Amino acid sequence: MMDTILSINNISKRYGKIQAVSNLSLEVNRGQVFGLLGPNGSGKTTTLSVILDLIKANSGTFQWFGQAPSKESRKRIGSVIESPNFFPYLSPVINLKIVADIKDHGYDDIDRVLNLTGLYDRRNTRFKTFSFGMKQRLAVASALLGNPDVLILDEPTNGLDPQGIAHIRELILLIASQGTTIIIASHLLDEVQKICSHVAVLSKGKKLFDGKVSEVLAISDSYELSAENIEQLTMIVRTHPSFSSVTPGIEKIQVYFKEIVNPEEINLFFFKQGVILTHLSERKRSLEQHFLELLDQNK
Ligand code: ATP
Repeated sequence: MMDTILSINNISKRYGKIQAVSNLSLEVNRGQVFGLLGPNGSGKTTTLSVILDLIKANSGTFQWFGQAPSKESRKRIGSVIESPNFFPYLSPVINLKIVADIKDHGYDDIDRVLNLTGLYDRRNTRFKTFSFGMKQRLAVASALLGNPDVLILDEPTNGLDPQGIAHIRELILLIASQGTTIIIASHLLDEVQKICSHVAVLSKGKKLFDGKVSEVLAISDSYELSAENIEQLTMIVRTHPSFSSVTPGIEKIQVYFKEIVNPEEINLFFFKQGVILTHLSERKRSLEQHFLELLDQNK
């Protein structure tokens, strides 16, 4: 049987006239990296705030670890919801000791979380000298004190530079590999695809669909292709069994497929027909586009 970490049952939350979350139900099981994916304002933060008892829902219920939420269940959850405040003139070690005191955890875990987040070498430098990425990692470190069963992160890579983003993503995967269940809110399809095993897509407070990332988001890929003879290329691609549509061009064409087609397969397909591709690249953006279209259809 699946080990249920969180179940949300018909949660709704209104702010005045704004229905921030509408009849949301979902389930997160142990070991998943669960992404709540949706554009700004789709209700992600509201949902996280409800399940963390920061705000009260108007209706609906949720259970942690199969039980009604309690102080004990709260202790098994680590979270980073807003950019956290640490004392700027104090070191990470001291800051984490303060957090440990507040959360009523011992100090024995501090070295572990500093190591895990790659901050151990900087443990004694003042927080204010940290890069934004390091600050973010310290927030994760602080959420990991006490080794929670679940880690909740709201837009963990917001505002980070590419290197900082890569660091955080690696860190999330590392934490997940150690058995911690992770729930992430993100508006970035690409991020969810890279790090999540499961996803629920939200639009205007409603769940559009959920499931395994590999199944839900791996829809209709598109490729940019070119060859010496573009006309011939355009003609032949139409005969591909998974062909959906093509945007013609002078130097390159963009091809959409109805299902996932991997690059090797495309290459081989053309090669067999005597066409040698001079360019083949997966257009990630088209997936983003696809996601936006899905949201649009549900407006
Ligand atoms: P973002 O990534 O921008 O935070 P989100 O998906 O997390 O978006 P929420 O922050 O949950 O979305 O917001 C959902 C809706 O509820 C939005 O329309 C937002 O303006 C509104 N909202 C959120 N918090 C409040 C509040 N405290 N008072 C009034 N309206 C609010």
